[in-house]
Parts: sequence; C-alpha cells; structure tokens
Amino acid sequence: MRISLATIDSAAQIIADMGKHVRFTEQEPCCAKCGTPLAVYYCESRVYAVRCSTCGTVTLTKAGNPHAACERVGIYPPKEEHT
Ligand SMILES: [Zn+2]
Repeated sequence: MRISLATIDSAAQIIADMGKHVRFTEQEPCCAKCGTPLAVYYCESRVYAVRCSTCGTVTLTKAGNPHAACERVGIYPPKEEHT
C-alpha cells in the first residue's frame, strides 16, 4: 500500500488535534531527541499514540501495552550512579 505525504500530513494533524482533547499518560521511556518523558494514549486494536510534548511529535505504534509502546519509540534515561 502506498501512502502519500499528504495522507501522512493530514493524519499527523488529526493526531495532533486529538492530543489536545485526549488524556495521555506519562511513561518512563524518554524522547530520544530531547529527553522528555513520553506520554501514551491507547487508540484501538493495540495501536498506541506515543507523544513527546516538547517536540510535538506523535508516533503511532502497535504494542501489547502502553509501556511497550513507549519502549518502541523512546529510550530510557541514563541511570544515575549511586556510589
Ligand atoms: Zn522530544
């Protein structure tokens, strides 16, 4: 299936608008770009929207649970060393 840029653009806009109205739940994995903890929203059929509130990016991913969805998109913050 081919997806045009316009389709992606409008889908991204729909998701961004959706993000203003739905409640995202913050998770431990962080945005790989800016380090902000990612937030996740369950869409349907194991599809999750993972959002970075700082970058304004929303990623759709399929996963078994919200945490796994964030792990697919983000990174874990470096663990603090306790000496
Ligand atoms: Zn970010």
